[in-house]
Parts: sequence; structure tokens; C-alpha cells
Amino acid sequence: MENFFEDLYLNGCEIKKNEPMKNHTYFRIGGITQAMLLPKTTEAMVYTCKKLLLEGKSFRIMGYGANLIVSDRELDFFVICTKYLSDITFCGTAVTVQCGAPTARLSYMAAQNGLSGLEFASGIPGSVGGAVFMNAGAYEGEFKNIVRSSSVFDKKNMEVLSLSTDQMEFGYRKSIFQQGRYICLETNLELSQAPREEVIEKTRLLLEKRWKKQPLDLPSAGSFFKRPRNDFFVGTAIENLGMKGLRVGGAEISKKHAGFIVNAANATFDDVMKLSEVVKTKIKEAYNVDLETEPEIWK
Ligand SMILES: Cc1cc2nc3c(=O)[nH]c(=O)nc-3n(C[C@H](O)[C@H](O)[C@H](O)COP(=O)(O)OP(=O)(O)OC[C@H]3O[C@@H](n4cnc5c(N)ncnc54)[C@H](O)[C@@H]3O)c2cc1C
Repeated sequence: MENFFEDLYLNGCEIKKNEPMKNHTYFRIGGITQAMLLPKTTEAMVYTCKKLLLEGKSFRIMGYGANLIVSDRELDFFVICTKYLSDITFCGTAVTVQCGAPTARLSYMAAQNGLSGLEFASGIPGSVGGAVFMNAGAYEGEFKNIVRSSSVFDKKNMEVLSLSTDQMEFGYRKSIFQQGRYICLETNLELSQAPREEVIEKTRLLLEKRWKKQPLDLPSAGSFFKRPRNDFFVGTAIENLGMKGLRVGGAEISKKHAGFIVNAANATFDDVMKLSEVVKTKIKEAYNVDLETEPEIWK
């Protein structure tokens, strides 16, 4: 195993052995992975993915862990973290972004450059790779509207190729990346020119809205449930059933926004899962609606 790590290290990968995932997830929950691998360049990322595949080692990709619920047992997979791949390059209205670039930084830089299209993303935590993976969106905006293509690593054929927007099969909080075959390396976006002060002001207003509504003082993974249909507001439905503040162990339905489950007091993975089951059951009984968890669950 030492040779294995040495080879990755010499090929541009930082290695954190026996790394607690709770230090890397927004929920502050997650067990120990045998190693977290942090490639320093896109080439190192591709090398790392290929090596793990060729050696039959199981692995998962993460950006900043803003949309992850990770089991707190010992994990039997490696984790590749993209956060060192964070270059953002502007060329007119086109932007090329490496997968580990923070979405919020991208949105800020676009506004500073007088480019419109990313105002909605101003407060969305996490990486652009994570945002493309789930077609992140807010306030009527979503990534699918601005993505033109992505450079991806194809795990099946072990090659780098380009996918167009159509090939990415975007839908509501959905993309082809969720099928597990492709890893996003870099994404090309198309924005539009607009008066700089207007873009900055729109960005500021949306950020303010987010801060007022969301429980940003406690660890969470954002909205816990997908909206099942356009006219069904999950947070309001949960609140109407009197579940705000409901707890299982240290996991709690946020008192500020019922669509969030927060880690109020050293919650375990099981606390979160049990609380989400309670909510799903009550919503089914009251409204005959099936809720689906929005964050990715790793166990
Ligand atoms: C307080 C809060 C508010 C939020 N608000 C919003 C919101 O308004 N709108 C919204 O859409 N989301 C929101 N989220 C969820 C989250 O911010 C987004 O899903 C974000 O895009 C996740 O990025 P990440 O880098 O943290 O991904 P991670 O959590 O690290 O990973 C999430 C998934 O993406 C996959 N992934 C990550 N990078 C890649 C890659 N390069 N290639 C392939 N797969 C990849 C991972 O394997 C994993 O399955 C919020 C979360 C929090 C905590």
C-alpha cells in the first residue's frame, strides 16, 4: 500500500490517510476514510481516477461536502476531493471553470466582471462540479441554463471527453453525472453582459433573502427534500404538520426553515436518517406525497 500512495503522491496528489469525513462535510457527520486524495492538477485527477480503477479500488468524488450525508462508520472507499482544482478563466462572456472552484466565488467574480446569469448561485455552497452534478439552482435559476459543455473523465472507457449540455441530461436537481459513469473535470459556461452595478445589486438581494430564510448558523446539507412537484412546498408542508423543532437525537427539523434538517447537537448519521423517515411518513399520511432526499447519501 505504501508504493500505491507514493506513486499517487509523485503524480501530483496530496494524501490524507485515515481522514475523518466529518471534518469535510457541511453536516459535520461522517466516518473515517482510509485516504482522502486531493489532486493538484486536472492531469493528477485523471491519473488518480485511472489508477484507482485499474487497481480495483472503490472511490467517490467530493467537492466541499455541502450536499453529502456520510455514514459515521468506517468507510470502505477512498475519497477524491477536488478542491485544489479551482481555476476560473473569463474570456468575454464565456467562462471556463475547474470542477473544484467554489460556486459562490464564481458568482461573485461574474458579478464583478459585469456578467449576468450566475446571480442565483451567489450563496450556494460547494463546488462547480457538485453544482453540475445536481443541476444546482435557486430563485428561478439553475446551472443547466448557463452550462455549454463539460470536459469529463469517462470511468467506463478511462478517457477524457467532452459532453454538451444536451448530453448532460439536466432536469430538476438531476444530471447524467448521477449515473456514476462520468466525473466532471472542467465546465464551460456562457453568461451575458449586463451593467455591473445591476448584477451586483441583484446578487446582493438574493444573498440577503437566503440569509434571512436559511438556518446558516447550524450544520446542514441545505434543503433536505426535493420538491416533489412545482406547487408543493416541502418546508411549508412540514411546518403545517407542526414538525418544526422536532428532534431525533441531535438531528432537528430547523426551527427557522422546516425544509432543512440541521445538526443541532452532535447528531449521528442514524439520527438524521431516522428523522427524515419520520418526515417522509408523516407527509405521505397527510398529503399522499412521496418525498425524496436531496443530498447524496454515502454509506
Ligand atoms: C446551507 C446550504 C444551502 C444550500 N443551498 C442550495 C441551493 O440554494 N440550491 C442548490 O441547488 N443546492 C444548495 N445546497 C446544496 C449544495 O450546496 C449543492 O448541491 C452544491 O452544488 C454541492 O457542491 P459540493 O462541492 O459541496 O458537492 P459535494 O457535497 O461534495 O458532493 C455532492 C455530490 O456531487 C458529486 N460531485 C462533486 N463533484 C463532482 C465532480 N467533479 N464530478 C462528478 N460528481 C461530483 C459527489 O460525488 C456527490 O455525489 C445547499 C447546501 C447547504 C449546506
